[in-house]
Amino acid sequence: MAQKDYYEILGVSKNATQEEIKKAYKNLAKKYHPDVNPGNKEAEEKFKEINEAYEVLSDPEKRKQYDTMGDAFFRPQSEGGFGYTYSGRDFFSDLFGGSFSDIFSDFFGFGDKSKSRVQKGEDIEIEVLISFEEAIKGCTKTIELKDEYPCPLCNGSGLDRSNQVQCGDCKGTGFKSTRRGNLFIQVPCTSCNGLGYKNVKKCSSCLGTGFKYNVSKLTVRIPSGVDNGHRLKVEGKGKPGKQGGKPGDLYLYILVSPHSYYSRDGNDLYVSLPLSITEAILGTKVDVPLPDGSKINILIPPFTKNGQKLRVAGKGIKDAFGRQGDLYCVVKIEIPERLTKEAKDLLERLKEYIPTPKRFE
Ligand SMILES: [Zn+2]
Ligand SMILES: [Zn+2]
Repeated sequence: MAQKDYYEILGVSKNATQEEIKKAYKNLAKKYHPDVNPGNKEAEEKFKEINEAYEVLSDPEKRKQYDTMGDAFFRPQSEGGFGYTYSGRDFFSDLFGGSFSDIFSDFFGFGDKSKSRVQKGEDIEIEVLISFEEAIKGCTKTIELKDEYPCPLCNGSGLDRSNQVQCGDCKGTGFKSTRRGNLFIQVPCTSCNGLGYKNVKKCSSCLGTGFKYNVSKLTVRIPSGVDNGHRLKVEGKGKPGKQGGKPGDLYLYILVSPHSYYSRDGNDLYVSLPLSITEAILGTKVDVPLPDGSKINILIPPFTKNGQKLRVAGKGIKDAFGRQGDLYCVVKIEIPERLTKEAKDLLERLKEYIPTPKRFE
């Protein structure tokens, strides 16, 4: 079997901090969790892989061994399913740092800082990526909502303790003590990795993560004219309220992918307009495509300068408030790479008629 690069699997560098490794794992675990990808074998394999990588890299001791010896040392004994034995006492508590509301808020990038008794459910924010045209014209998007809840089978611990046996070495305490004078020193039991029990496995329902997802779909209409950083509020689609309170709201944070030749500034639309030197000097007419698929014929006046902005009123973007922007064609004079001898001769002759510009005065 080929050597597995645990760093590559988690998408972190060899000298990533423990914090970076944890963050990368959390993001990947959320993406590939089997609840989110039902029946997807590929995602399941990937999920297994990231868990294996995280088990090793999250433990500084194991990481050091891995860095010198490679993955053969750590490969799970049983290849089928998630049968391998859980090790390391603080794996989950360390990873998720306590309560599930913390995990949840962490995942969605906002936290309920005030621990006050709010009746209304928490708000959720999700990023929605749309194309440049979709932003201008408006579109309908189906959003996947991943509602996380603690795994009922293991109560969120991620552990399957059904076949556990008390560790004989530490009598279930997870610690071993030695006496120095009248001082007792307690160290984590090495036989059970400080768990107090042996034969503790990963929970088969949540595959050791401690959480499950309800995945639901929601279709939303994104109005025309939205832009990067705009937020759309969908009322009542956040987390359920507490004690009969109203549910929170869902915020869609809009991200617009860039276009190959359009750009925008507010409601104004910009397009770069390449012109040859002769077109710029003599003037011409050019068809400029509009995002709705139509074209507009623009008159380029003689003596048009490089960088000049030609404004076409009312052909920009119309936003949700009904405001209409303009279209700006930004002239870009292109100098040819090479010329025929004939063209070059003509230019040599033309030189006499074109005044030399004033320089450095
Ligand atoms: Zn023990
Ligand atoms: Zn579970």
